[in-house]
Amino acid sequence: MIPSDPSQVTAICFDNIDVPNMCKLEVAREHGAYAFLPTLLKEFTSEKIIDEVKTSNIRGRGGAGFPTGLKWSFVPRNTGKPTYLLCNADEGEPGTFKDRDIMRFDPHLLIEGMIMAGFALDVRDAYIYIRGEFVHEANVLNEAIAEAYAANLLGENILGTDYNMNLTVHRGAGAYVCGEETALIESLEGKPGRPRFKPPFPAVEGFYRCPTVVNNVETLSTIPAILEHGGKWHASIGVQNSTGMKIFSVSGHVNKPGNYEVPMGTTLRTLIEQHAGGLQHGSAPKVIIPGGSSTPWLLAEHYDVPLTYDDMVEAGSMLGSGAVIVMDETADLLALTKRLSHFYAHESCGQCTPCREGTGWMERILNRIQNGQGQPGDIEALKDAAVHMDGRTICALAGGAAAPVLSLIKHFPELLEAGIVEKAA
Ligand code: SF4
Repeated sequence: MIPSDPSQVTAICFDNIDVPNMCKLEVAREHGAYAFLPTLLKEFTSEKIIDEVKTSNIRGRGGAGFPTGLKWSFVPRNTGKPTYLLCNADEGEPGTFKDRDIMRFDPHLLIEGMIMAGFALDVRDAYIYIRGEFVHEANVLNEAIAEAYAANLLGENILGTDYNMNLTVHRGAGAYVCGEETALIESLEGKPGRPRFKPPFPAVEGFYRCPTVVNNVETLSTIPAILEHGGKWHASIGVQNSTGMKIFSVSGHVNKPGNYEVPMGTTLRTLIEQHAGGLQHGSAPKVIIPGGSSTPWLLAEHYDVPLTYDDMVEAGSMLGSGAVIVMDETADLLALTKRLSHFYAHESCGQCTPCREGTGWMERILNRIQNGQGQPGDIEALKDAAVHMDGRTICALAGGAAAPVLSLIKHFPELLEAGIVEKAA
């Protein structure tokens, strides 16, 4: 059980992650699942729930970090259209693997969070959009949803109230860009997953052009604890403006790669050394990518920066999805950047010229530099392409593709210069 004393909290989403068979409703209920739901459905109004979530100051755990309560408050009421709740379970950002653990080990936590969010937003139909490769997780979720329907936790007149909600799992087809909320909506509508121009934002015009809230798995899984213990309780964990606990997926040259849930404000050093077992062979970090592959790189000098939204921006990067990729002196950073450029070129949906052309252009230049065939002017061309991709496109994929290239140019230009062939005069 999660302690009501915030100073005693060691986990929220992962509180029961190690309990055997937690994916079964009977076991989940023995550990507190759905215990607060009857009270919530009978005694809470929509306004009270949204106020508690606002007070909690939780920010979206998928990458953008937008305040969840504020997002919910943007949904217009009495429009005559249905409101939809979509759970973004695409988790495609390289380095991120936290939502997968919630779904496969504790699916009822996510389902309970979605029922509570759905009740607050007057949702009748909710969907979990899960990436196509997560076959096992989709099966686990479907079994848990079937159990929830059988127990009257989903469907008509939930727990004897007049609230009805259906929940459906939809598997995507493996496109990274479908983690962007409007591309996810397009894909769920049965169309190619291409991001839409914003505005209008999904809260006003989303799924089938109806009001829609898209929330990440970890965000929705935090909702039951927030509503049971109160928004102030959540706001007193972590630090101001970055409240609560956060799961960080740590990978790379560490002794114990894995998911670790820690209070927001924990330093990179503590996360890596105390939780992830430190660097292999006792070496020092050369590069730390703090929020997934599309976030700018940090260096050893940033080892004591707290993991908060604001501190990461101040250090020149972003908290992103919380995927901390750690690399030591042995990492081939040019090969890494080229590999990431290939990934982004492959995943570009092609709607925007800077992204469609720029990602392939960067990959080709990096390829020839890696092969020792770089030409004079290549570094300038790389930089020019990356700079003109960032912030000039429909979605953030182009900026994410530019981030590793710009980081390499900024911090390790010598790796690029070594692959440039000077033409004979
Ligand atoms: Fe598509 Fe890239 Fe434009 Fe995003 S930035 S909409 S992925 S072309």
